[in-house]
Amino acid sequence: MYGFAGQMLRINVRLQSIEKKPLPEDLAKQWLGARGMVAKILYDEVPRQAAPLGPENKLIVAPGVLTGTFVAAGSKCGFGAISPATNGHADASVGGHLGPEIKFAGYDLIIFEDISAEPVYLFIEDDNIELRTAQHLWGKGAIDTERRLKDELGEDFEIASIGPAGENGVVFACITHDFGRNAGRCGIGAVMGSKRIKAIAVKGTKSFPIYDLKSLCTQTEKIIQRTKAHPNMAPWQKYGTALFVGWANDQASFPTKNFQSSYYEQWPTIDGEKLVQECVVTDKACFGCWMNCGKYSKAKTKSGEIYIEGPEYETIALIGGSCAMTSIHDVTFANYLCDNLGLDTISAGSVVAFAMECFEKGIITKQELGGRELRWGNIDDFEFVVKKIAGLEGIGKILARGTKGAAEILGKNSINFAMQQKGLESSGYESRWAPSMLLSFMTADIGAHHNRSWSITVDLELGRDVIREKAPVVVYLQHVRPLYDTLSICRLFWGELDVMPEEYVAALNYVTGWHTSESELMRLSEKIWNLTRAHFIQRNGGPGRLHDMPPARYYEEEIPSGPAKGKKLTVEQINMLLDEYYAARGWDNKGNPTAEILNDLGLFSVVDDLKKIGQLGEPLSAGIPKVRGHKLKPKAM
Ligand code: SF4
Repeated sequence: MYGFAGQMLRINVRLQSIEKKPLPEDLAKQWLGARGMVAKILYDEVPRQAAPLGPENKLIVAPGVLTGTFVAAGSKCGFGAISPATNGHADASVGGHLGPEIKFAGYDLIIFEDISAEPVYLFIEDDNIELRTAQHLWGKGAIDTERRLKDELGEDFEIASIGPAGENGVVFACITHDFGRNAGRCGIGAVMGSKRIKAIAVKGTKSFPIYDLKSLCTQTEKIIQRTKAHPNMAPWQKYGTALFVGWANDQASFPTKNFQSSYYEQWPTIDGEKLVQECVVTDKACFGCWMNCGKYSKAKTKSGEIYIEGPEYETIALIGGSCAMTSIHDVTFANYLCDNLGLDTISAGSVVAFAMECFEKGIITKQELGGRELRWGNIDDFEFVVKKIAGLEGIGKILARGTKGAAEILGKNSINFAMQQKGLESSGYESRWAPSMLLSFMTADIGAHHNRSWSITVDLELGRDVIREKAPVVVYLQHVRPLYDTLSICRLFWGELDVMPEEYVAALNYVTGWHTSESELMRLSEKIWNLTRAHFIQRNGGPGRLHDMPPARYYEEEIPSGPAKGKKLTVEQINMLLDEYYAARGWDNKGNPTAEILNDLGLFSVVDDLKKIGQLGEPLSAGIPKVRGHKLKPKAM
């Protein structure tokens, strides 16, 4: 098969067995790789009652079909598991060099099963595959582990590792790679830790076949020349995603003090300009990328200097704005702390901000903190809390469950300001004045992650107060944006440099020799979305609508300051957004997929699975929508 390395590994860490076999052709053709394969395998192989941190969950590593090719930024590596944060399907991806290296070693897919008796790491050097002891690494930071393994094995090994948070089952633990890139969301690192897998170390020296290399190179050369002159190239190279800080604040969408407000007066102390002036040491790029949006930074701390890749926009938003920091050095240090402990910076920032608000409201007391305070913007307090979380100590044991899990224990209506959806903390956009962005968070299959649909520009284009007719655009974006995770390439070339979907379709055909069309790929994306939705309902009960309502802060509290002062949504408006969204998807009004839509997408067995638990959508009175978002083509976003 062109475009694929052609082999997969199934590794039972309890039995220490490693099975190598050909990658099934139908799996590759029907699901492409990365997010697609993850969705299919999790649905088929993990029992519905399996605990996310138990032996029956699986950890899947899946670089995609375009990973490691000459396609622009073919850098990503997909990870997947049932999430301990949401108890649903989860996938996350990391850039850097891991995915290409796994393919160069000869593999498209690795499935880890069961739980090892002792800590191990997976060693791959082409055909030499071993589970090696990780006793000497257990308890170490994720960054420290990467350094140690490179020292032991050689700089040319690519490493993915977890920190203490993953070892201890913190539900927002991540997998770290390349000294600060992360498969961040949904607690994938906790699943890796539950299996006692500390790291993956891989070196590959092979190649895999490309159907039409000449045309692929010609196309990429043209894209290089065109994008070099794109007006977004220079600012992205200079600031990376941190350039969005001022923009998000101007749009009154910057999460401030745990999303109490959407405007942060102190934003110039933590924005991209400050980062470049004071911290950035050099730029970094993932495999096959010439945009170099990664910033390798140095921060001054009380006890010396630290180095880390970042902080990116999301980290600045959730740690900087939401925890009200006023020093870019503090934000960068907090980024380092989270990465080394193995915590997703988005969720960690949100959890600490939630704890700070709980302290402000007297829900968490000084006594519970061993006599300490939890002060907005205080880096020492931040460090104290994240270390407690990673070590499951004191208050950290409660906060390690994420904002939703912690609020369920702490009570006192703290669930109203646990800023998450389905158990996954929201990315960095306060959305009381951005209904379509909120709809994206509410309905995202893995919880409130901007990666699924970044639709704040829809609010800007169609009107901030407008509710109606945004849902079909959100549906479109939920198909196109995750498609890049399925192809396993960086979506920023599409979103920022106008490399269009049709160019990637052509690239896919050059790589594979297939004759795929854009509409077929969008249909696959829709199929994956319906599968993950059905999977979530099967694991968490229904109807789907039950899981789509946002925290009460969005409809009970007005934004207190800034350009959006006084804004909030009503429950009626939120329900209106959902009504239109379900209609655009061809789901019933309860938010359950219908037999019509599932059969149309070829998900025949899912119909029976939902029927068995009484959660198959009611038949549609108006028939299947002819346009389910995927024919709409708004400006790239
Ligand atoms: Fe990596 Fe940034 Fe390049 Fe995307 S644009 S591949 S995230 S360096």
